[in-house]
Amino acid sequence: MTDVQTAVLEAARVLAPDVREITLRPDAPAPLTYQPGQWISLRLPVGEKPPLIRAYSMATPASQDGRLTLCFDRIEGGIGSEYLWTAEPGLAMEFSGPVGNFTLPETDSDLVFVAQHTGIVPFRAMLHLLATDPAFGRSGRRVHLVYGTKRQEDLVYHEELAAMSRRVSWLDYHPVVLEGAPLDTAATGSESDVLAAHAATWIPFVPMVCGVREFTLPTRSFFMEQLGFERRAVKVENYNGPAAR
Ligand SMILES: Cc1cc2nc3c(=O)[nH]c(=O)nc-3n(C[C@H](O)[C@H](O)[C@H](O)COP(=O)(O)OP(=O)(O)OC[C@H]3O[C@@H](n4cnc5c(N)ncnc54)[C@H](O)[C@@H]3O)c2cc1C
Repeated sequence: MTDVQTAVLEAARVLAPDVREITLRPDAPAPLTYQPGQWISLRLPVGEKPPLIRAYSMATPASQDGRLTLCFDRIEGGIGSEYLWTAEPGLAMEFSGPVGNFTLPETDSDLVFVAQHTGIVPFRAMLHLLATDPAFGRSGRRVHLVYGTKRQEDLVYHEELAAMSRRVSWLDYHPVVLEGAPLDTAATGSESDVLAAHAATWIPFVPMVCGVREFTLPTRSFFMEQLGFERRAVKVENYNGPAAR
């Protein structure tokens, strides 16, 4: 395990009815370095045997000021996320990391990002990094982003992602919502509907999938069974897997 570090919860904002973004200012003398897609383990003073360890991916690339932006679902009855939902700015926190292998792959191919709910978080950090990389912009490579939630109001970072897809030529953004009449930019349906309709035309690409296991496993199966990918060729980050605890 990496060393425990301290930070102050500097700011918080609600992004959707059950999604909150928090910004931590680590006490470390130098800014932490990490790759988009990596995560930290918060050590929370709750649960039967504190600290309760909960992993959260960074929502932005590493920055000069060293701040860490996290974004999480409030899960009903979830011990860690309920605690974080009401945590106030000024709170002292402990964490370890950053760590993780769910990072931009070394490839010349296009990328397909598939996210459900807060599974968008690591992809948002990756997209922000790519948007500041002139070489990526010139490369001719594309990123297809499929991002689904239950309702339109749950689509966090949606305006920003829609604006990015208008600004850069390489981002192909497919927001989908399961319920309700679609507004101008999100279609009604599921992530798998979008993949079934388009993914075959995007080949060749590296698929990356993030969210809860109930979502990531069938999505990986789609890439394997419908498009012939090998299991290890589909990069997956499971939010409710046992590995990161
Ligand atoms: C590598 C990694 C990165 C992660 N990054 C993020 C992130 O950026 N944002 C984020 O919101 N969460 C993230 N998580 C999940 C996070 O660590 C916690 O598991 C989550 O906040 C629930 O903790 P809890 O104590 O509130 O719930 P618990 O008391 O542990 O209960 C979890 C229960 O809720 C279900 N569940 C529903 N939605 C989720 C969900 N989104 N995540 C986990 N379990 C869920 C689980 O299946 C389980 O039954 C990440 C997890 C891992 C392993």
